[in-house]
Amino acid sequence: MTETFDLVVIGSGAAAQSVASRCRTTGWTVAMVDKRPFGGTCALRGCDPKKVLVGAAAAIDQLNALATQFEKDAGAASGRDASHLKSLAETIKARAARLR
Ligand SMILES: Cc1cc2nc3c(=O)[nH]c(=O)nc-3n(C[C@H](O)[C@H](O)[C@H](O)COP(=O)(O)OP(=O)(O)OC[C@H]3O[C@@H](n4cnc5c(N)ncnc54)[C@H](O)[C@@H]3O)c2cc1C
Repeated sequence: MTETFDLVVIGSGAAAQSVASRCRTTGWTVAMVDKRPFGGTCALRGCDPKKVLVGAAAAIDQLNALATQFEKDAGAASGRDASHLKSLAETIKARAARLR
């Protein structure tokens, strides 16, 4: 079967999607080809996956900083307050470790 198009875009990343979309709005028929899964670098291997990884790393950093602060506070406290703060710090560290 042979099909013809006004435009064949090579790639399916942001650039390809932008040009394909503009040409479609003017009524052109457009085909997109990509040697890799549809979506391009940003969606599949670049920006979005990076933001998920960076977001998780930032969350782990914040949790560890919070645990460290509770440990310091526990050192300055006494009795039940100290053991409560120590326990909180341990729980937070365990949660942070699970996110890795
Ligand atoms: C780790 C990482 C993080 C990034 N983070 C950001 C960010 O936070 N913000 C930001 O603005 N930018 C970011 N970028 C940059 C962003 O991903 C690129 O600027 C953007 O993807 C470029 O779009 P493009 O359409 O030009 O190319 P691409 O998205 O790379 O698309 C090109 C497509 O063409 C296909 N292709 C290539 N050759 C052929 C061929 N011969 N035949 C068929 N198909 C082919 C490829 O498979 C690919 O799917 C990041 C990039 C990386 C690698």
